[in-house]
Amino acid sequence: MKSYDLCECGAPLRLMERPTPKPAGTEILLKVVAAGVCHSDLHICDGYYDLGGGMKLKLSDRGVKLPLTMGHENVGEVVAVGPDASGVKIGEQKLVHPWLGCGECKVCRRGDEQFCRTPLSIGVFRSGGYADHLLVPHPRYLFDIGGIAPERAAPLACSGITTFGALKKVGPVLFEEPVVIIGAGGLGLMCLALHRAMGGKAAIVVDIDPVKRAAALKAGAQTAIDGAVADAAKQIIEATGGGAWAVIDLVGATRTVQLALDSLIKGGKLIVVGLFGGDITLPLPSLPLRAISLQGSYVGSLTEMAELLDLVRRKGAPDLPVSTRPLAAVNDALNELKAGKVIGRLVLTPE
Ligand SMILES: [Zn+2]
Ligand SMILES: [Zn+2]
Repeated sequence: MKSYDLCECGAPLRLMERPTPKPAGTEILLKVVAAGVCHSDLHICDGYYDLGGGMKLKLSDRGVKLPLTMGHENVGEVVAVGPDASGVKIGEQKLVHPWLGCGECKVCRRGDEQFCRTPLSIGVFRSGGYADHLLVPHPRYLFDIGGIAPERAAPLACSGITTFGALKKVGPVLFEEPVVIIGAGGLGLMCLALHRAMGGKAAIVVDIDPVKRAAALKAGAQTAIDGAVADAAKQIIEATGGGAWAVIDLVGATRTVQLALDSLIKGGKLIVVGLFGGDITLPLPSLPLRAISLQGSYVGSLTEMAELLDLVRRKGAPDLPVSTRPLAAVNDALNELKAGKVIGRLVLTPE
C-alpha cells in the first residue's frame, strides 16, 4: 500500500510503500475513497499548538509519533474483514469515526472515547487516510453514508462532528436566538449548514476575510461582520439585539475569544472550538456578575456521530463547497490550506 507520511515536522509528506495490512480479529480494511484535508493537520505538521505567552504544547508530548500517516476525515470501501468483525460487508462504503480511545476505560465505556486518556485517533495517533488503504480496529467506528457522495460525507468525520458537537452545547437557545459563529472557513460553512439543518433560528458570522464573509452570506448567514474593525463587538451586540446568547469560536485566538466575551449578553455562553492558540486575561468577577459560561468543545462521541448522520440522512448533506485533489497532490493541498486560500473543504481522492 501507498501512503504519504509526515516523517519530520515542517517538512513535506513523503511517499511510503509498505505491505497492505491483513485485518485480524475485529479489524476492517478499507480502500480509501475520500480523505478530507483538515486545518488541524497543519498543527500536526508544525508539531505544536501555541499556548500563548511563548508557551507551546508539543504534539510529541501528547504522544504523536512520527512517521505518521495523517488524514482523519475518511470514507472507504470495505475490502477485507477480520474474522470477528460483524455487521460489515465487502463493498460497502463507510464513514470512519476517527476519535478512538482505548475502548476499555471508564470514559470510553461511558461512550466518550474522544476524551480517553490514551487516545488512539485515526490520522493523529494511528495511521490515517492519506493513503490508499486504511485499517480500522472495530466495526463500531464505521457509519453508513446512505446516498451521500463520499467527498461530501468525509468532512463529517471531523469538520461535521466538531461543529455539530459545538452546536449541541448551545442548548434550546439555538431555536430562539441567533448564534454567533466566528470563522467562516471550512468549519464555519459546515457549522452554518448544520445549524440550519438542526432548525437554528439565525446565524451571525464573523470573519476578517471579505471573501469568506461573502461565502457565509451565500450559505445563509443572516449577517456577516468584519471581526477586524474596532467596533466589531458593538456590531455583534446590535445584530443580536442586545448581546449574544451563544458564540461558537471556531478560530480560538486571543482576539476572537476576547471579541466573543465582549459580545456576550448576561447569561450567555462562549464555546471555544478552534485551536489557533494564544491566551486571555479574564477578570474573574465578570464570570458571576455577567453569569457567562466559557466551554471548550472537542470533536464528538460515537453517539453524536450517529445523530449527525441521522440528521444528514433526513436533511441532506451539508451543501458546502468541496474540491477534490489526487492523493499525490497532498502537499499542495496542505500548502493551499496554510495560505488560507481554501473556501470550503479540500478532499483527496486516491485512484
Ligand atoms: Zn479509554
Ligand atoms: Zn480535523
